[in-house]
Amino acid sequence: MTRRIGSGSLVIATHNAGKLKEISALLGPYGVKCISAGALGLPEPAETGRTFIDNALIKARAATEASGLAALADDSGLSVAALDGRPGVYSADWAERQWFEGGPGRDWFMAMGKVEGMLQAQGADAERAAWFSCVLAISWPDGESAVYEGRVDGSLVWPPRGELGFGYDPVFVPAGAQQTFAEIDPSEKHRISHRAAAFDKLVADQFG
Ligand code: IMP
Repeated sequence: MTRRIGSGSLVIATHNAGKLKEISALLGPYGVKCISAGALGLPEPAETGRTFIDNALIKARAATEASGLAALADDSGLSVAALDGRPGVYSADWAERQWFEGGPGRDWFMAMGKVEGMLQAQGADAERAAWFSCVLAISWPDGESAVYEGRVDGSLVWPPRGELGFGYDPVFVPAGAQQTFAEIDPSEKHRISHRAAAFDKLVADQFG
């Protein structure tokens, strides 16, 4: 049986305020007291893993080692079938620009354009299947860990459509839908997303 968080304290190993808020809201009803890595002044480790699981565990373990507490971390990204799963763990890196809107930053249109350019280079009949993955990893001070993986399948469209969401949302249409993740209501995206799938598994295993 998996180790349980119970109603103890949990460090949320992210420096992203949006993620912290979302995760705290999801775990609050189960009596978990969420502490942010930022509030504890924990450093952000380099994401040197080759898989989402590796990177989520690297982040969770680093937070546990620095704080002595159980920690939860996530890693996510877009994988494209015709590109052998790329950009995958490099999803955010593909958007990095030295100079964007006045300084270093992330240009999502550049990243989406890079994916599309590589697909178009394969010809008009290139396979457009893609999926978003999310891995949630929990680590405990004694070295034990638990991993939950969620995935949503779909296909890529071009040009990008919609103003909602973030990252690669404007080019991703989930299976069975017509609209991109950037066109559908955020509450609907949150219901069917890779992140929701990973959280459902975590909640079933930890609090079921
Ligand atoms: P990380 O999990 O914070 O390392 O982020 C990984 C990257 O994957 C993000 O910066 C986005 O580029 C991409 N990504 C992850 N989830 C989503 C999503 O729901 N929509 C669009 N892009 C996403």
